[in-house]
Amino acid sequence: MADLIVEVITVGSELLHGLVPNTNLDLVGGLLAEAGLWPSYHATVGDDPEHLGEAFRTAVHRADLVIVTGGLGPTQDDITRKVIATVFRRRLILDRAVLDQIRGRFRERGMDMPPMNESQALIPRGANVIENPRGSAPGLHFAHLETEIFALPGVPSEAEAMVRAYVVPFLKNRNPGLVSGLRVVRTIGIGESALAERLQGFELEEPELRLGTIARASGVDLHVSASSVDAMWLQGALDRGERKLLERAGSHAYALGSQTLAEVVAEALLNRKLTLATAESFTGGQVGAAVVATPGSSRYYQGGVIAYSNESKETLLGVSKETLRRHGAVSAEVAKEMARGARERLGASCSVSTTGIAGPDGGTPEKPVGLCFLGFSSAGEGEAAERFLFGGSRGDIIARATFFALDLVRRSLGAGVAWSEPSSRS
Ligand code: ATP
Ligand code: MG
Repeated sequence: MADLIVEVITVGSELLHGLVPNTNLDLVGGLLAEAGLWPSYHATVGDDPEHLGEAFRTAVHRADLVIVTGGLGPTQDDITRKVIATVFRRRLILDRAVLDQIRGRFRERGMDMPPMNESQALIPRGANVIENPRGSAPGLHFAHLETEIFALPGVPSEAEAMVRAYVVPFLKNRNPGLVSGLRVVRTIGIGESALAERLQGFELEEPELRLGTIARASGVDLHVSASSVDAMWLQGALDRGERKLLERAGSHAYALGSQTLAEVVAEALLNRKLTLATAESFTGGQVGAAVVATPGSSRYYQGGVIAYSNESKETLLGVSKETLRRHGAVSAEVAKEMARGARERLGASCSVSTTGIAGPDGGTPEKPVGLCFLGFSSAGEGEAAERFLFGGSRGDIIARATFFALDLVRRSLGAGVAWSEPSSRS
């Protein structure tokens, strides 16, 4: 199964015009990866029958599996069904059962089916109908020569439901016994190339494992994956791969799988029965927002202060006028005093603070845009401040500072993933 060539086609001019981000591509890619398949090709095509026809011809020529999203709706610009009929010479036949379902769906919502929607019950001869539990347009599945083609609606939640409920099970049935697995090691504070250096030789040592990296705002995710008919072997190989990634990433590894940094911090605080407060300047509450995104945060999060101006740093957090005057608001000293102030005033056992210059204006040669200090204060563990220089847009700088603030808490509490203790999740 790992050797199947997969192509994803996303249909819609809005995707090419920068109006709608092409999330279906990520979605389909991610869901297939869970099933041990990796797309080799992708095409995005505007709502033009000729172009879509060409994309279909190219795809069936080079791929074993084609997944198309979009253009199955009832409007004029929804062309996928018609193009399938033309390119694959399959007459469109009205499917009474599908029509009844679509009618029923409208009736449930107290509406009459607009006549236009009847076109959604037109099914290319010989195609299977993929039920759409969330919307009106059913999906289509048929084979052309050796290639399996799945046409799904464009609405992301509908496409997702169908890939999960139909496409992935179909692929698994076709390859009984074949199992796939994916392990992710999440890192922060180390660049992709530095990680690549640490990972040198991995592929030679583990030729059966595929190694990949994904650079995210939160840091670089490393993953290893494999497929095999031998489930025991697969588990062993993935365990070994994961352990090696952890070894090489060292203290930069903060989590496994899809666990977030905020969840790791939550776990560390709960394990040690500590509470957290936040003091934020230029992140404007993003650190607090990231903390409360984790369910159960009320057990350890005391609250936070957004102190944007110098005055508010003094009045709300007790930062001294003298420190502000001498070092400036963006300084290690102020970061520490902010953290201390939040911890004391909010009665938390530890706290984290942010102060920095998000830009695009306001930078100076001494204090350029992207400069940021993060502070940590703890009753037991003392105080620390760290200096960072982040690149990117205003949004990027704020997002990165937010992750690093959480990571400062994690590292201050000594939390992470220890490679010496193999994890217990599946
Ligand atoms: P509908 O019956 O809703 O018309 P459809 O199959 O015709 O479904 P489209 O009209 O292509 O699908 O798209 C429906 C919605 O989904 C639109 O809002 C569209 O912008 C969005 N969409 C389509 N393709 C994608 C994609 N690749 N990624 C993210 N959103 C998408
Ligand atoms: Mg549509």
